[in-house]
Amino acid sequence: MSQNIRVRFAPSPTGPLHIGGVRTALFNYLFAKKYNGTFILRIEDTDQNRYVEGAEKYIIDSLNWCGIPYDEGPGKNETFGPYRQSERKEIYKKYADELVASGKAYYAFDTAETLDFHRKDHEAKGKTFIYNWHNRLKLSNSLSLSAEETQAKLDAGEEYVIRYKMLDTQKEGAHGIISTTDIVRGHVSFKKELLDDKVIFKSDGMPTYHLANVVDDHLMGITHVIRGEEWLPSLPLHLSLYLAFGWKIPEFAHLPLILKPTGKGKLSKRDGDKLGFPVFPLEWTDPQSGDVSKGYKEDGYFPEALVNFLAFLGWNPGTEQEIFSLEELIETFDLERVHKAGARFDPEKIKWFNHHYMQEQNDEILADLFKSQQPELADIDINYIAIVVGLIKERATFVSDFWDLSHYFFVAPNSYDDKAVKKAYKEDTAQLLRELVNIIQHVNDFTAANLQTDIKEWITKNNIGFGKVMMPLRLALVGALQGPDVFEIMFLIGKNESVTRIEKMVASLG
Ligand code: GLU
Repeated sequence: MSQNIRVRFAPSPTGPLHIGGVRTALFNYLFAKKYNGTFILRIEDTDQNRYVEGAEKYIIDSLNWCGIPYDEGPGKNETFGPYRQSERKEIYKKYADELVASGKAYYAFDTAETLDFHRKDHEAKGKTFIYNWHNRLKLSNSLSLSAEETQAKLDAGEEYVIRYKMLDTQKEGAHGIISTTDIVRGHVSFKKELLDDKVIFKSDGMPTYHLANVVDDHLMGITHVIRGEEWLPSLPLHLSLYLAFGWKIPEFAHLPLILKPTGKGKLSKRDGDKLGFPVFPLEWTDPQSGDVSKGYKEDGYFPEALVNFLAFLGWNPGTEQEIFSLEELIETFDLERVHKAGARFDPEKIKWFNHHYMQEQNDEILADLFKSQQPELADIDINYIAIVVGLIKERATFVSDFWDLSHYFFVAPNSYDDKAVKKAYKEDTAQLLRELVNIIQHVNDFTAANLQTDIKEWITKNNIGFGKVMMPLRLALVGALQGPDVFEIMFLIGKNESVTRIEKMVASLG
């Protein structure tokens, strides 16, 4: 692409960023990076009633944790700033006025009560009230009133909104089509006669989302609008506004919905609560209720796993490859390969990714995390913990799985799994273990390899049978018939501890 790509992620700070929002941000980021473009964060906070304290910080923290920071936005390279719409208030009015002046928009004075009356009246007749070409001349606005009446109302300070004239019947007749080619959905077209005259400027002196969004995308030089499918119904209005202003229309890509793990409908917070998985990247405490919502970070997921997982919600590379680093995603990602069918959210799949990225993590870093979570490890040398982690992480999905998989490297078992005892501890076991202790005591250089050689030699020479020794030995060391190589375990816990554990089990089981 020869064009200088500029894309934006434009969340409204109405609460924590939902996982679907992170997916939208990610696709914008990947697309921008692929073409050496710019990824912009714009905070769409024109609806003051829905503003939630802390939400903007949460959005920024989430992008940073995922490793997809914005290039331009609040507090960063503010060439096209400000990036909070609430700080751009003065900008929008003039554009709304411009549309009124050119006859493409109009003042509407209808009160909430009148509109409510019409709504209910229509409902009673089994119809839906929409403010449009059909009835706008019967309502209270600058099209139905004379210029003098309108001016009088404005002068009297009557509350008004500005509505966009979606279908201009004088110019277009009773039908009009607005269409474009969406990168994901192909040709999309809308019948204007079915659409309403949306409010673009509110009585509180603020633009609505639609006007602010289009004006800012234009002023910020946005080349591609990549956003969720839920904004598709707004597209005809946005396209119309571009045309009305005579501005270049950006390319649009509407990303598919993210569906519940099973059944119909969009993924919701309730699905997460029900099935126990987070739908937010980071933990969030509601400033009003104090309610805490789970986050992927705090639940022990690696950002690489979340990113890799989200990349596949609506996109695929067209090959069998599933593991992609962020760099590989940037290289491979393509909006043309985003599909329009809803993408099913599979909370098990992200665990699979997490297990994979766990294997790629550095053992020292994992050991640090493990130590910080497990009070029993407070006094244990970090290098020892790192070695243990290296041995057991293959079977872990989360750092929180580590203790169950490795406690016997740190503390001796104080009970033995019943089933395992039945299977491994026979009549002659005590005697065999006493002889084994003797072998272990005499291993010269106490390494896993030497232990293995000496013990195997003793077993073979006396024709004992491998399982008869190895099973009870494992039971003594671990407390169950699980874990990595026994010689490795003995080497790590040391000669004395190994012998103590064997003797302890013999004493306890007889
Ligand atoms: N403020 C909208 C949102 O909350 C932005 C939609 C768009 O990207 O145009 O998602």
